[in-house]
Amino acid sequence: MNPAAEQALDYVKAIAPYQPGKPISELARELGLDENKIVKLASNENPLGISPLAKRAIEKCLNELALYPDGNGFALKQAIAQKLSVGMDQIVLGNGSNDVLDLAARAYLAPGADSVYSRHAFAVYPLAVQACGARGIEVPAVDFGHDLAAMRAAITPATRVVWVANPNNPTGTLLPAAELHAFIASVPQDVVVVLDEAYGEYLTDEQRADSVAWLQEFPNLVVTRTFSKAYGLAGLRVGYALAHADVAGMLNRVREPFNVNALAQTAAVAALGDNDFIRQSAELNHAGMAQLEAGFKQLGLDYIPSFGNFICVRIGNATAMYRRLLELGVIVRPVGNYGMPEYLRISIGTANENSIFLAALQQALQEQELK
Ligand SMILES: *Cc1c(COP(=O)(O)O)cnc(C)c1O
Repeated sequence: MNPAAEQALDYVKAIAPYQPGKPISELARELGLDENKIVKLASNENPLGISPLAKRAIEKCLNELALYPDGNGFALKQAIAQKLSVGMDQIVLGNGSNDVLDLAARAYLAPGADSVYSRHAFAVYPLAVQACGARGIEVPAVDFGHDLAAMRAAITPATRVVWVANPNNPTGTLLPAAELHAFIASVPQDVVVVLDEAYGEYLTDEQRADSVAWLQEFPNLVVTRTFSKAYGLAGLRVGYALAHADVAGMLNRVREPFNVNALAQTAAVAALGDNDFIRQSAELNHAGMAQLEAGFKQLGLDYIPSFGNFICVRIGNATAMYRRLLELGVIVRPVGNYGMPEYLRISIGTANENSIFLAALQQALQEQELK
């Protein structure tokens, strides 16, 4: 290895880089396909695109881009505070919610500290933990979901952060609110519990935990949310954390001063007020989920029931299927790096995109049978 690379911290050298979904432009380049004919169902993006209100807000903001953004994110924090009835001092804005996950790791983890997460949980947790040199404790899953009792039992005196994704990505599993509440109550109050609700907008009111109310009960709770999924702003990078003001203050200390760009702040304020768009997105998702489930049943494939905007389907040779689907112009997500080598994760698209995917899947399965 290059001697400068060799000097990197050992725990940095040990990191396996994050594997993002393949961009449409890359597949088009590699296989000489027409970008417009490629269907990407690989990164849990909103198939409806960006909220029209957010788009208009961005257009108005273009002339101000020579100026630094508001480093305190006043307008966005105010909008979030009003919508959720929390204090502005309880909010931490991030360059995507990935950023606030990293801030939680940076504020609390270092070599010598432990951090607990579930097997098959979102890949950013182990990455954030490793980047700080802390020890990750991966707890075996039950039916692909978090085993909260085992996670509680895995907490050591050195544990500083526990991560829970609800619903989880890539498995789509959901923890009942009462179980989650009891779990948080059982965690020592000096251990931060990060509750990642990136897909909360896709839940029904009955399914959704009242996690914002829990903030008053639990000074160690950090709830994270994103504008990347149902809000349709993945390309802009904006998300946030909610916590007790003292904990939010710690995350803000390690935050880059201008971590959320001006377009993202403006768009997020507008998107937050676009309730129609969120409702439409959730409805399209439920219909698309039913469409894919019906398609999988027809093809005789097992899947993991999902509460997110994606679903994992079991395909014996998932790697070969992933490659064949690419050739057919459909990008999905292999999840071997999540310890699920037999599965592919499919993001829910429009009805048309879902049909194209199902037709490609059926074709590829028939080809496999003929071999
Ligand atoms: C997509 C996702 C996020 C965040 O993505 P950002 O674009 O960084 O906000 C966070 N957690 C989970 C579980 C996700 O799937």
